[in-house]
Amino acid sequence: RLLQGAQFVLAAHRISQLPADQGAEVAFAGRSNAGKSSALNALTNHKGLARTSKTPGRTQQMVAFSLPPTQIDGVSLEPRLIDLPGYGYAKVPLEMREHWKLEIDAYLHQRRSLRGLVLIVDIRHPLKEFDRMMLEFCFATQLPCHVLLTKADKLSRNQAMQALAALRKQFADNSPHATAQIFSSSANTGVDEAREAVMTLLRT
Ligand code: GDP
Repeated sequence: RLLQGAQFVLAAHRISQLPADQGAEVAFAGRSNAGKSSALNALTNHKGLARTSKTPGRTQQMVAFSLPPTQIDGVSLEPRLIDLPGYGYAKVPLEMREHWKLEIDAYLHQRRSLRGLVLIVDIRHPLKEFDRMMLEFCFATQLPCHVLLTKADKLSRNQAMQALAALRKQFADNSPHATAQIFSSSANTGVDEAREAVMTLLRT
């Protein structure tokens, strides 16, 4: 089954400590507390995979997970998921934010095995500076991006659809590589759709 069997590989403070830059990987980014860990756990069907926390600003790392080998274009690959540290939340010290801003920037620019970005956004909060930065990077480099509007269980179906429509409007006309969907880890909404999206990115 899609994205099952993910395993922790390593945690890194710098991109130089990540697994060798070969094969294919998809990165997950989001402001702290957006619901990224919960989303990763839901997608991989592994409750304890990424640490969820009610205290944003805990020690931050880039975490690499490996998936079991899959055939991609006739080649057997062990794809990776990379959990990027979230920041943008006030409690993360400025120095740490600056460090991660530089590392994430370098990662997005340099990582050749990076196939796409999954951006986790709390559906109740419009795009913040961090989210805009990520999207703008994807638009500029044509890196495919898939946005999960998460915690959709906090809104009515109608409100959620409106938020999705508003987000899609903000994708520039020249960003054919950006997609978005409604998601909820708690209510199990959009999980299969998101798995398919990640697999599509890995096959890109
Ligand atoms: P991260 O900091 O982005 O990794 O966020 P977490 O996954 O740790 O989630 C932050 C908080 O939001 C936790 O209290 C979660 O229980 C909560 N949360 C995460 N996803 C959802 C969701 O889909 N619905 C609701 N209602 N709460 C969620």
